[in-house]
Amino acid sequence: MGQDLISEGQSVDNYIGGEWSKIDGTHQQDIVNTATGETIAQVNSSSPETIDDTVATARQAFDDWRQLSVEERIQPVFRLKALLEEHQEPMAEVLVKEHGKTKKEAMGEIRRGIENVEVACGIPTMMQAGHLPNAAPNIDETAVRKPLGVFTAVTAFNFPAMIPLWFLPYAVATGNTFILKPSEKTPLTARYLFELIDEAGFPDGVVNLVNGGAETVTAMLEHDDIEGISFVGSTPVARHIYETAAAHGKRVQAQGGAKNHIIVSDSANLEFAVDQTVSSAFANSGQRCLANPSAVVHDDIYEEFADRLTEAVAEYTVAPGLDEGAQMGPLISDDHRETILDYIETGVEEGATLLYDGRDADVPEGGTFLAPTLFGDVTPEMTIGSEEIFGPVLSLLQASDFGDAIDIVNESRFGNAASLFTERGREAKRFRHEVEAGNLAVNAGTAAPMAFFHFGGWKDSFFGDLHAQDDDAIRFYTDEAVYIERWPEA
Ligand code: NAD
Repeated sequence: MGQDLISEGQSVDNYIGGEWSKIDGTHQQDIVNTATGETIAQVNSSSPETIDDTVATARQAFDDWRQLSVEERIQPVFRLKALLEEHQEPMAEVLVKEHGKTKKEAMGEIRRGIENVEVACGIPTMMQAGHLPNAAPNIDETAVRKPLGVFTAVTAFNFPAMIPLWFLPYAVATGNTFILKPSEKTPLTARYLFELIDEAGFPDGVVNLVNGGAETVTAMLEHDDIEGISFVGSTPVARHIYETAAAHGKRVQAQGGAKNHIIVSDSANLEFAVDQTVSSAFANSGQRCLANPSAVVHDDIYEEFADRLTEAVAEYTVAPGLDEGAQMGPLISDDHRETILDYIETGVEEGATLLYDGRDADVPEGGTFLAPTLFGDVTPEMTIGSEEIFGPVLSLLQASDFGDAIDIVNESRFGNAASLFTERGREAKRFRHEVEAGNLAVNAGTAAPMAFFHFGGWKDSFFGDLHAQDDDAIRFYTDEAVYIERWPEA
């Protein structure tokens, strides 16, 4: 399974009502092996008519699916967990080919996806609400959580295995039916995931896959029979999804872009902080919403930190993601590489100091490789100090004291995550109280919560009320009712 899905010239199919089907819409784009430049598949855009048919199929499946006991509903979720474990390695290889990340990163990503499937297996407990006997004289009250109908998720390219699993297992285990619209840049991983879903034995129509781009999403946003939408992608699209879905009466949770910061205190263990800063900025080639592409460093240690970081960046190994020893693979596309090169040029023009120029480094030929770049003397007003680059570019900013560092972080319009390196408890406490972001790490480079905690950002990194994962997911995918019951004496 899997490997044969990526033979040259193959078009990616939809999975609707338990059947694989060709896509009727217009040609969307070629899928390229990012390490070699070779075209490995095409993906088309599903038409509004296909969305109508898919929603009707999912709506019909909902009638029976919601009637099953919760115990019966979680059985295919358990099987999906076992299938993902069994196929983790070949799935990772498909992911590496279309996306570019290293195999180790792909294996780690699938692991984080599996974690969500495991949590969703606990829905019989998580879905319980509350019961109070004698809430009023001779009256018992019970709160219950009920599924709503058809939900959809529209997802980003950068974690094509994990992000769909932030939503899919919770949506279906709570009794809804589900349609995934994966990124048109990485449809092969979703295709592989649905091979496993097909084998897991969900009833037909409970879990569906439609491919496409903006036109396909518009048909979903405007569809009366879709109850809610989960979105992960860039901030302008997240804002558009939030506004349009809400205008059409839907529940919506829209996770957007990011520009996260690491604060390096003058008390930090520098060796550890350098190591964590490098991996936080350059893992997944910097294409992570939890990457920290800006490090705000105390004046007193700035020079030493910059020197150590420059050495570490120069040693970073850029290679095809399937190579042993690769630390960073290629970028998602040539267009994206051009965008990042433009940002580097802008950084130079705006007066930042190039400490290590990734454009000059040797990288493998043929793919969309770009070595890491390190800038010093960046300010929050500069383009590279304020905008999301989403690539292997790390900026160093200087702070005169800890309060100054917090002000710099909070100046950002984004609030997805932040990290602090310190040996002082009082700085950690102040960081947690004052930094305006949804995920805060002390002495860890990447603030990624486990699946049994909720996950979502603040400010322009998130539009909605309920985040992904944990209890927020249960509340997003259910509505509550209260049963009030009295049995008067005869
Ligand atoms: P993107 O916004 O280009 O695309 C995301 C999804 O939206 C895709 O499925 C795409 O088909 C769809 N889409 C694109 N334009 C649309 C439009 N006009 N109308 C309707 N749908 C549209 O994002 P991307 O390039 O795939 O992913 C990178 C972005 O995702 C970065 O900004 C990154 O920070 C963000 N991201 C955020 C999180 C988070 O949890 N906050 C996680 C991962 C990625």
